[in-house]
Amino acid sequence: MKTAGMRAADLRLSDLFSFGPKGGVMRFAGERVLLFDAVALGLLRKQLIESFGYHAARAVLTRFGYGHGWRTAEALREGIPWADEREWRIAGGRLHRLWGLVTFEPVEPDGRPGPEPFADAIWHDSYEAEQHLLHLGQATEPVCWTLAGFASGYLSRVNGRPIFALEESCRGKGDAVCRMIGRSREEWGEAIVPHLPFYETDCLDASLRHVQRALRRAETRLLRAERLLSAGDEETEVPGLVARSEAMRSVVAMARRVARTNATVLLLGESGVGKERIARLVHDASPRVAGPMVAINCAAVPESLLESELFGHAKGAFSGAVTERAGLFEAARGGTLFLDEVGEIPLAMQAKLLRVLEEREVRRVGENRTRPIDVRIVAATHRNLAAAVAQGRFRQDLYFRLRVVEIAIPPLRERPEDILPIARRQLSEAAAREGEAPKELGKSACRALYEHAWPGNVRELVNAMERARILSEGPTIEGIDLPPEIGGAAAATTSREAGFSPRPLAEVERAHILATLAAEGGNRKEAAAKLGIGVATLYRKLKEYAEG
Ligand code: ZN
Repeated sequence: MKTAGMRAADLRLSDLFSFGPKGGVMRFAGERVLLFDAVALGLLRKQLIESFGYHAARAVLTRFGYGHGWRTAEALREGIPWADEREWRIAGGRLHRLWGLVTFEPVEPDGRPGPEPFADAIWHDSYEAEQHLLHLGQATEPVCWTLAGFASGYLSRVNGRPIFALEESCRGKGDAVCRMIGRSREEWGEAIVPHLPFYETDCLDASLRHVQRALRRAETRLLRAERLLSAGDEETEVPGLVARSEAMRSVVAMARRVARTNATVLLLGESGVGKERIARLVHDASPRVAGPMVAINCAAVPESLLESELFGHAKGAFSGAVTERAGLFEAARGGTLFLDEVGEIPLAMQAKLLRVLEEREVRRVGENRTRPIDVRIVAATHRNLAAAVAQGRFRQDLYFRLRVVEIAIPPLRERPEDILPIARRQLSEAAAREGEAPKELGKSACRALYEHAWPGNVRELVNAMERARILSEGPTIEGIDLPPEIGGAAAATTSREAGFSPRPLAEVERAHILATLAAEGGNRKEAAAKLGIGVATLYRKLKEYAEG
């Protein structure tokens, strides 16, 4: 239904909401929406608070509401012929009501001291206060986090500048009504400072990292339960992969679970953590195992060749194309295509890759016809793709298309339980290959391996063991046989039995900081976060090292 110009007060759900009589996809202003049960949302809130604490729960729910409000403003702008911009700007409150989240009543200026708030409203029947009281009882602070987030996101989008909505009073803490005040950062002044972290992505990132760790723990518990049920360890034993730590076990469990689907998988992790091994696991455990697994390191192929490598080319498409050739997308038909170092693909090529993934067909270079593709995509990168998106170096739409399921493989230093089993497996595999008795690991070697930060991860460990196996003379590998940076030098100064040489703490700290920085690819912010120190502290220490 179109009118000459829509007014916010005239909005009806029936104008915006569409769904087939027999069910299926529901849309609101053209965007897909879902119906949720309020109590289920209340339970989610309860779980968030109990698992991660108030702070993290509030951050997650505020940002969830913020994103919802922002997207709604966006959808409404395109979807409705507004009488004027103002009607669009004030429609957020009306929508809140239409959706049954809350009943919105604007408050007229009441002559309170100071400048008029940007937005001032009373919320009746907040679903959120109701659910909080139901599951968690009365709070000491306002609790309508998603609603405040929604108002902030909506107002920020329609006004083109950040507007922060806070509750002055809230049913959830025993007040008669919820009252929302929205102001800009400047208008709030100091009063907004304690609330800013809930809106900032830094805080969200920290919360999400916390959530991720907690999910991993939950995953591990689930895995244990599954193992008990299947009464065997086979499920987690993967040839060529050591997963002794809980973190790695949950990575394997996740990979196995996603393998059964056709979903695109994005593997994240530092260089050398074993991303290709997990990609192989996804393929091997999938219904596509009978098909080929084709891998390409996108960083190793020159930009000019990447397109014909992936999509193929016609005869004479370019100089050097003497015969026609199928690309890797076609070669992987019925199987899996592993795009390693996907973060290194140039922007122009990213657009072409996105089109292929969306349309599920390729066009060989120099050809006009398209060919359908039938591949599962597993992509991997050592880069922080979210940061690359923010810097404009990676397309956001491609990022979202790749990260349908994201699996983060932890660096070796975060799963020290895996270090010695990997080292021993390496020794026994080498011995089998060479037809000799496997060498043992001595105490000093174990200690050195355990204490090293492993910036090169599993790959560094495997190389170090191979070197030590060749250089060591007796049946036992000691610290002195390891590369000097790992502990050979330290062990050399002390007796082999003792195997430990005390070093000044400052020296250990320096080595650890530099190794962490290297492992983060020189990113000081990430390194500081990993080390649990402030960026300023890290800068000061690096300056000292540079001067010292
Ligand atoms: Zn409230």
